[in-house]
Amino acid sequence: QSNSTDENGFKGHGMLAPFTAGWQSTDVHPLVIERSEGSYVYDIDGKKYLDSLAGLWCTALGGNEPRLVKAATDQLNKLPFYHSFWNRTTKPSLDLAKEMLSMFTAREMGKVFFTNSGSEANDSQVKLVWYYNNALGRPEKKKFIARSKSYHGSTLISASLSGLPALHQKFDLPAPLFCTQTALTTGASIFLTGETEEEFATRLANNLENLILKEGPETIAAFIAEPVMGAGGVIPPPKTYFEKIQAIVKKYDILFIADEVITAFGRLGTMFGCDMYNIKPDLVSVAKALSSAYVPIGATLVSPEISDVIHSQSNKLGSFSHGFTYSGHPVACAVAIESLKIYREKNIPDHVKRISPRFQEGIRAFAGSPIVGEIRGLGFILGTEFSDNKSPNDPFPAEWGVGAIFGAECQKRGMLVRVAGDNIMMSPPLIMTSDEADELVSIYGEALRATEERTAE
Ligand code: PLP
Repeated sequence: QSNSTDENGFKGHGMLAPFTAGWQSTDVHPLVIERSEGSYVYDIDGKKYLDSLAGLWCTALGGNEPRLVKAATDQLNKLPFYHSFWNRTTKPSLDLAKEMLSMFTAREMGKVFFTNSGSEANDSQVKLVWYYNNALGRPEKKKFIARSKSYHGSTLISASLSGLPALHQKFDLPAPLFCTQTALTTGASIFLTGETEEEFATRLANNLENLILKEGPETIAAFIAEPVMGAGGVIPPPKTYFEKIQAIVKKYDILFIADEVITAFGRLGTMFGCDMYNIKPDLVSVAKALSSAYVPIGATLVSPEISDVIHSQSNKLGSFSHGFTYSGHPVACAVAIESLKIYREKNIPDHVKRISPRFQEGIRAFAGSPIVGEIRGLGFILGTEFSDNKSPNDPFPAEWGVGAIFGAECQKRGMLVRVAGDNIMMSPPLIMTSDEADELVSIYGEALRATEERTAE
């Protein structure tokens, strides 16, 4: 196993290295990152990398924003911790909730529930929805529908909500009550069927309606979707998709959860993904850029209809007994408040809109490469899917490791990308400058040429 090739194409990493996070052992030899500066990170040997994934789609303000460091240290000096249980809380937690409610304008939201991560935010969504339906006297309305290729987290329930087989296999997941809608796939399906994007969206909406009818609408509590799928390979929705999907879920009184863990705070060129696609969700999950990843924090935004029911029923049903020691952690909230302030002051969505053509069009100039099947994305999120003969129906043999070769070629040239099979993903820091976008495109091009040569051998 120690001779396996890891996701960056390097030999000698243990099998656990490519996917497993947090499992450290001495027989793996990971790339060790030591410090960061703006859009760059440096390893322990001092080598500099353009961090095209912003850590894990999260360091929105880059590596060394002094205002975030100051917000954390000021709060650490003042009040490093107090909890948010039993009607006690802290000022940063209250202020952050207020700010988030004012920033989210796709529709009015009522309350914010704080977690430590995106996975916990999605787990909390399930409990909120179940509690809400119990309070309304319809306990049978419990099932969740997610989409294949979606990623909603790694805890038992958020992994059950996800549509990536690797998260289910060998874990006896999904848990009961969690179903997956067939793939919201890519241009590939359009290519294969000859449909327009709108026709494809109609087919997906019909497919969702059929699933709801098969399961029984009275048993379906909620539908969850990322505005743009991230970890599944950066898959934006086909035109009219969310319009059609929202009409279906509304028809059957099914709640809509927008998982904005990647898309919130400007990544698509709008403050939230819901703004981009005119989504009016009942619940929203955020994390990652909420604190620019400087400290762990996640949250769910809850509609007034749901929060009112939970609030008014909690005496009858017993309180909504859910929460974490670190829910609304004052240091995390202080850093998040400062992050949101910076997003507003710098008008980050606008910055993304301005720079993204350089990034998106720059990469799309390589669409003619014989190994590129499809390039997808918008704003500061982009995916490349490699395939043979440019046919989406013709993947490269997995053992060729084309994606891994490309990842290694990027790394050699000083850029880190995310590799998952033959899918390459990029979501640069939201502060990326036009020069950095040019550098990213240039390294991508060189790595692509090198990969073409190695693939042709
Ligand atoms: N939801 C989405 C869309 C994500 O991309 C992720 C993580 O990548 C999560 C949820 C899980 O977040 P976390 O890793 O903070 O638990």
